Amino acid sequence: MVRGMYRSRSLKRKFTRVPGGGNALHYKRKKTSPHVCAECGARLGGIPRGTPHEMKKCTRSERTVSRAYGGQLCPSCLKRKLIRETREKMGQQ
Ligand SMILES: [Zn+2]
Repeated sequence: MVRGMYRSRSLKRKFTRVPGGGNALHYKRKKTSPHVCAECGARLGGIPRGTPHEMKKCTRSERTVSRAYGGQLCPSCLKRKLIRETREKMGQQ
């Protein structure tokens, strides 16, 4: 019997033509879902897709965006949020 990891659907399967002319089943790791904005759900730029282990191998600057709420909000949502926060602060004074 084959190993358990090849029996489950945790790996992506792909039929590939091999040099001998036959077909072989190759197993690949599934791609992780992209990082999205917490407010609008748009895909975030500058953040790679990868398993936690692959992400850990990158440096921190490669994993995130060096900005307030970088890696959490998209630039347009951040702009709206900062304007909102500033207005609330001005209203308190
Ligand atoms: Zn957004």
